[in-house]
Amino acid sequence: MQALCTQAKSFTRLLDEAECYRQLRQLRWPDGQVRCPYCGSEYITKCWTYFRQPACRRYQCGCCGLSFNDKTGTIFEHTKLPLAAWFLGFYLAQLSQSTAAIARELPCDYHTAQRIVWLVREQVVRLEEGRVLQGTVEADEIYVTAGHKGQAPGGGCKALTFPPSAEGQKARTGTRERGQG
Ligand SMILES: [Zn+2]
Repeated sequence: MQALCTQAKSFTRLLDEAECYRQLRQLRWPDGQVRCPYCGSEYITKCWTYFRQPACRRYQCGCCGLSFNDKTGTIFEHTKLPLAAWFLGFYLAQLSQSTAAIARELPCDYHTAQRIVWLVREQVVRLEEGRVLQGTVEADEIYVTAGHKGQAPGGGCKALTFPPSAEGQKARTGTRERGQG
């Protein structure tokens, strides 16, 4: 964890909220032309900032009349977590940090960290969509939660783990053969 904290300190530039919003605007509108997420118009009549979020710009569309901000229509919309925390969370998730570790580093609650991890995984799947694996393919092992062990596929109730007996024997795992125990 010490190494992680040291690494996070080197991200001062990214952790600057104004810089994060600049990065977001550059990703959304690479040519610098703000477009309305509702009608696609480039006719913006007004641009202002929030008192509590001076880094976030709000715009008024001159075509449909609706207002929107830098985060409207993105995964950051309606979130109270600072943009810098999201960016750092994405970075940590890409480093395969655990959800609990991300929640500690940001800091945020476990469910928010879990959402960040899922968003990163969804994005990775989207980017890899259509990619055909070739040659020798290796897959990592899968972790099965204890709650699902011994259950038949599809939620069946064929338990394969038996509870300890009254004599205090350990639970046995496996299929029960006829005539045994
Ligand atoms: Zn519009």
